[in-house]
Amino acid sequence: MVTEKSAIFIIFGGSGDLAHRKLYPSLFRLYKSGILKDHFAVIGTARRPWSDDYFRETVITSLEDYFEDDKKIMEEFAKHFFYQSHDVNDSEHYIALKNLAAKLDDQFETGHNRVYYMAIAPRFFGTVAEHINSEGLKTDGYNRLVIEKPFGRDLDSACELNGNISKAFPEDDIYRIDHYLGKEMIQDIPHIRANNPVFEKALNNQYVSNVQVTLAESLGVEDRGGYYETAGVLRDMVQNHIMQIIGAVASDDPKATDAKIIHKDKTNLFNSLKVLTAEQVDTDFVRGQYDTDKLGDQKAYRQEDNVAEDSEIETFTAGRIEFESDRWSGVPFYVRSGKRMPAKSSRIDIVFNEKVADLGIKANTVVTLLIEPEDGNSILINGINYKESGQDFIKFPEEEEFDSAREAYESLIIDILSGNRVHFTLWDELRSTWKYIDSIRERWDSQTPDFPNYLSGTMGPDAAEMLLERDGNSWAWD
Ligand code: NAD
Repeated sequence: MVTEKSAIFIIFGGSGDLAHRKLYPSLFRLYKSGILKDHFAVIGTARRPWSDDYFRETVITSLEDYFEDDKKIMEEFAKHFFYQSHDVNDSEHYIALKNLAAKLDDQFETGHNRVYYMAIAPRFFGTVAEHINSEGLKTDGYNRLVIEKPFGRDLDSACELNGNISKAFPEDDIYRIDHYLGKEMIQDIPHIRANNPVFEKALNNQYVSNVQVTLAESLGVEDRGGYYETAGVLRDMVQNHIMQIIGAVASDDPKATDAKIIHKDKTNLFNSLKVLTAEQVDTDFVRGQYDTDKLGDQKAYRQEDNVAEDSEIETFTAGRIEFESDRWSGVPFYVRSGKRMPAKSSRIDIVFNEKVADLGIKANTVVTLLIEPEDGNSILINGINYKESGQDFIKFPEEEEFDSAREAYESLIIDILSGNRVHFTLWDELRSTWKYIDSIRERWDSQTPDFPNYLSGTMGPDAAEMLLERDGNSWAWD
């Protein structure tokens, strides 16, 4: 039977890293759990002239890295995969793609539904979207466009990209991926807030001293130096993931279920970002770049492959963000992200003040929402699992407790098939966050940083500690 989960996925960049490491394993999990069954097909496109059989082999090989299943299930799954060699600029190739999709529509009875997935370099996003439209690939089923990050590299380029794709697809059919929004804890935050009235009552400038968001990685850039040289951590992590995490914690109405209301709420929050002056960038944002470690064993960033010897790209940042809103003005949101930090950790620390005792919460309590690792101990109160903390103002709503955490991409694919845009980023949100990030970037680009300035395996430059000390605060994760 044709349902909303029946569809043809056309994956542009079907031979690439993202497709093999994230998309195919996630589609396979959905297949094994029965969410994807008979009525789906995947067309991988890329420049190389592969056969269907060869493509299927690459899919199975990538699955073998993650699953120990009987190869027979993988082979059954791979029968849904087809390959079409394709150059993004060649109109003829889109016609071939259209014909193949039409044929597979009949073969797999997919109800003419299409998911166009951009797993290619961002410079091609606009071109592909325009060709999908102009070559008539769209059908009378649903036609959803999925865009990977990065969505632009500043406000101007994001506007240009958005202009290009919105000529071809209406905003309601565009699914901009921020994979943090697919993570269990981020999706659970509204439920946690809505189900813990005392905690929710305390989430404002009367009771919160500060909020801290840390996305720390222990690895360096590995083999992605070329990409990283065009980005830096401010663009790569703060503009998107960190802002979206703040959106989940700080938006006004956690009970909202309607995507439009949720996004309006988040847009209002981002519109209230206090954009920094050049002088404020100097005092409120710190940047760093990793050096070797203290034994001299690790490569410094400037020694990585495809990285300039005098690169000024930052691999670490810490900053102090403020909002001008009734709920949050006066509360610093400290954010921090970096490579080659001592451990991988993604967490939100909400530090309450003394007045919170009026609500029955111990003065100066710190609530930590652990985003990663994704299992167990996901809410800490003063560093202890909430169940053992002796305070009961916050707990998981029963049905929300983690059991078998779904991979972020798996959950996002289900949302795409269901037409649920709650966990995707909307253009209005991006516009506000880019505007904010641009003010920092412009100041940084006008100055020469003193890089490298932190050793691999450390918490970043000392200035990141001083940023909080100046306000009489300190990082909860240190
Ligand atoms: P990749 O270089 O591994 O793959 C790129 C794909 O595009 C390949 O299949 C290649 O054949 C195809 N391609 C290149 N030029 C083409 C052309 N002219 N015509 C048609 N196809 C062409 O890249 P990736 O790491 O898989 O990244 C893909 C996208 O996903 C990028 O936008 C990237 O920013 C984003 N992304 C990737 C990751 C990741 O973990 N790899 C994470 C987040 C976002």
